Order: sequence, then C-alpha cells, then structure tokens
Amino acid sequence: MKRRSFLTHALVAGSALTFGAGCIRKIEPAQTNERQADNPGNSPLSGASITEPARQIPILAETDVLVVGGGPAGVAAAIAASRAGAETYLVERYNHLGGLWTGGLVLPLLSTHAVDKNQQTKQVIHGLGGEMAKRLADMGMAIHEINPVVDPEAAKYVLDEMIRDAGVKMLYHTWGANVIMEGNELKGVFIESKSGRMAVLAKVVIDCTGDGDIFHWAGEQYDEMKYHIGLVHRLGNVDRIDKTKSGYVKMDIGGETPIQSVNWVNMHGEDNQDGVDMLNLSRLQMDYRRQVWENVQKIRQTPGHEEVFLLDTASQLGVRMSRIVDAEYKLTLEDTMTFRNFDDVIGISGAWTTMLYKGKKVRKRERPYWQIPLRSLIPKKTENLLVAGRCFSFERELVEDTRIIGTCLITGHGAGAAAGLAVRERQAVRNLDISKLRKLLVEQNVWLG
Ligand SMILES: Cc1cc2nc3c(=O)[nH]c(=O)nc-3n(C[C@H](O)[C@H](O)[C@H](O)COP(=O)(O)OP(=O)(O)OC[C@H]3O[C@@H](n4cnc5c(N)ncnc54)[C@H](O)[C@@H]3O)c2cc1C
Repeated sequence: MKRRSFLTHALVAGSALTFGAGCIRKIEPAQTNERQADNPGNSPLSGASITEPARQIPILAETDVLVVGGGPAGVAAAIAASRAGAETYLVERYNHLGGLWTGGLVLPLLSTHAVDKNQQTKQVIHGLGGEMAKRLADMGMAIHEINPVVDPEAAKYVLDEMIRDAGVKMLYHTWGANVIMEGNELKGVFIESKSGRMAVLAKVVIDCTGDGDIFHWAGEQYDEMKYHIGLVHRLGNVDRIDKTKSGYVKMDIGGETPIQSVNWVNMHGEDNQDGVDMLNLSRLQMDYRRQVWENVQKIRQTPGHEEVFLLDTASQLGVRMSRIVDAEYKLTLEDTMTFRNFDDVIGISGAWTTMLYKGKKVRKRERPYWQIPLRSLIPKKTENLLVAGRCFSFERELVEDTRIIGTCLITGHGAGAAAGLAVRERQAVRNLDISKLRKLLVEQNVWLG
C-alpha cells in the first residue's frame, strides 16, 4: 500500500472541490447568560452573516482512512482500519481518547451480554471492545465481568497504548471543521487546531463525532433527536463514610468504580435538550456545575459524610443523542427482538435495559442479542463516508441500546474494518465483497453470531 504523509501548501479549493455547509459564518451580537437561561435551546442566530474570504489551506496528509472523533467508536474504527493495513489518522478535539466513556465519566461498558436462541446469557461484545475490557480487567482497572465499570484514567492510558501499537497517526487538540467534497464524493476533512486550519485528504472518512458533524456538513439527511443531557461527576473518600455517626442518613453517592475510595454519579439532567446548540450546551454546563457543587456540599454536611469530596466533574458534557443519520438501512426494534440475520452483519450487540416491544416489557435478562448490518453505517448519498457510534442509522425506539458504549465499539470496529478493506480492494465501501469483510472481522475476533 502506498503510504504518503506530508505537509505541503497546496490549493485544496480546486475547480470541482467544494466545502460543506459549515463555511458560511453567521454572526450575532453577544448574548448574556441571563438571556440564554430565559431562552433555553433557542438559537439567537437571526440571519445576519459574513462571507469568509477564500484562502489556501495546507494539506497535512493524504491518507487511506481518516477517523474523526476519538470516542469508543472512533478508537475501535481507527485500530481496526490500521490493523487491516490502511494508513489511518484519528482526529480528536480533546486531549484523550474514549469520548463520553472516559471524558464523560460514563464508566460502565454496557451491553456486553445478551440472551441467545437457547435463552442462555452469553458475551456478545468481542473484538476490540472485548480486548479493551480484558486489558483493563487484567490491570485491576475494571470491575464486574458483565457490563464492566472501568477507571477513566486507566481507560485513557489503555486506549492510547492500543492506538500507538496499531500505528494510528493521532491528532489530539484538533477539530474536524468541515468536509471537502467533489460532487457526492467526500475527499477529506478540514481540521482546526492551534496550528491553524489544514486539510487531511482520505480515501475513506469515518464519522465518529457522536453528533454526526461530518455527515451533517456533507449534506446527508438525518433525524435530530433531542434527549436528556447530564453532567457526570465523581466523589472521593466514599470509603470514609461513617455510618455509625449519630444523625447518619443514607445519601445518593452513586456507583462503585475500580478505585475503592471513588464513586461515579450519573445525572439524568434536563429532557428534550439540543445537543448541538453551543448556547444551550453553555447554559447546561454552568447550571449543572452549580447543581453538582451544591449537592456535594449537602452530602458533606450530612453526618457521617464529612470527608466525601467532589473529585471531578466530567470534561465532556453528557450529550446522549443529537443527530441520527438516515443511512442505507435503518435498524429497527423489530430486528433486535427477533434474532434477525443480515448478510452484511458487522457485529452483534447486547442488552442492558428493559425495552417496550409490542406493548410488553421485555426485561434485560430476556433480551436477544442483535445483529448490526454494514448498510446502517453507509450514508445514502455521500461516497467514501461511513458513520459509527451513537449516530449510526436506527429508529428512535432503539436508542437506549444503540447509543451504548458496547454498541458504539461494535459499529466502530465494523466501520474501521470495512474502510480498511475498501482501501485494500480499491472499492467503494458500498460495493465491498461482504464475504471478505466477514472473514476480516472474524480474523479480528469479532463475533458475528
Ligand atoms: C450521562 C450519560 C450517561 C451514560 N451512561 C452510559 C452507561 O452507563 N453505559 C454505556 O455503555 N453508555 C452510557 N452512555 C452512552 C455512551 O457513553 C455514549 O453514547 C457513547 O460513549 C458514544 O460513543 P461515540 O464514540 O459514538 O461518541 P462519543 O463518546 O460522544 O465520542 C465522540 C468523540 O468525538 C469527539 N468529537 C466530536 N466532534 C468532533 C469534531 N468535530 N472534531 C474532532 N473531534 C470531535 C469528541 O470529543 C469525543 O471524544 C451514557 C451517556 C451519557 C451522556
């Protein structure tokens, strides 16, 4: 495979190349926080705009595969593509991998198990997800065999090591900022960092931003799902709570983690929130920080809890859902309840919660494992693009399982392997020989049922 990586000042905006919808910048006078609070989730953009002058952008690299977003899906995608032989770049806006799993302090890796056709509970998440869980367990940094809860710093370290070992070229502190299109063909992505605006050209791009930034800029159709947004935090010294103290009252101190003195505390947060509105995100961030701080003070003032302290709030706000791509196939709840087989299966996920199906509650312990087809990762219009993670294509009824870390690891792994194979075979991802993809996935230890 030809490997090229260079920094050259070239004109990206060639004759037929165009940029996605993000290149017109709209401006509006600054808003106060009071105004934002009065008007939650309501964008103040009034239509005023300014034209950004055209300019030459340095090309950082021409690569085989570019993954944007380093959450569970992005890490799995980048490693799978690189292990399949493709030169792979991974772009992440923050300073760590794992996305909401680590930076969001969402520590339980759910949906690792489900029920098979003989009603036996079995592990379904293998491949890279299984490898990550095993490495963390071997380090004493994951507890519970089913749906393990991990330590976030250990997970960041393990993911870095896996990315390094796989030879992925990592770009931290870098935002995917817009797409580079030639007709319907995605040619690469503009990135923004302290080094300025650059371009990475790629044969295949995998959108693992969680919010579908890339397919949004590429002009794909999608469902905009407003959902509840929270802010997870951790408490320290939970092992020093004195239950014998006079006046002791049991407080909500969250769930255990691999570190005995530390608990993680989930937050449901406000319902029906827009996860891609920066003003709304800013409002929620400040309100939640205050809420968390005040709650922890109440805990500390409760007899027996004096030594408990706020260890940290998540560096990533807990956006559960935003955009869901309208891909070649939209996975349905029916598919997941009936052991539906897909010829182009890329992986299998499990269950972590009770779901309503045909008016009846199906409990976690009865929930069948379910297949995910490659088609639900392939957008309808854009060539050279795959979508993995919480924004792949599924109907809303399925959201509780599709957005879960185990499922994101599976879709990421499948997308990465498909991208790697497409590069190797010089084929469009939508024309891949599925038997070759299945073979590659099995070689990479993915369980396909
Ligand atoms: C409060 C909360 C509680 C949850 N609880 C659980 C739980 O207990 N167990 C469970 O399994 N799941 C849970 N989830 C769901 C799960 O954490 C997420 O759905 C999952 O992490 C999504 O993975 P992802 O890779 O698709 O996206 P994300 O984890 O969101 O990762 C996306 C990554 O892309 C980066 N990124 C985004 N845009 C850009 C850009 N333009 N350029 C560069 N980088 C970008 C982000 O910084 C991030 O690192 C919870 C979610 C929330 C919010």
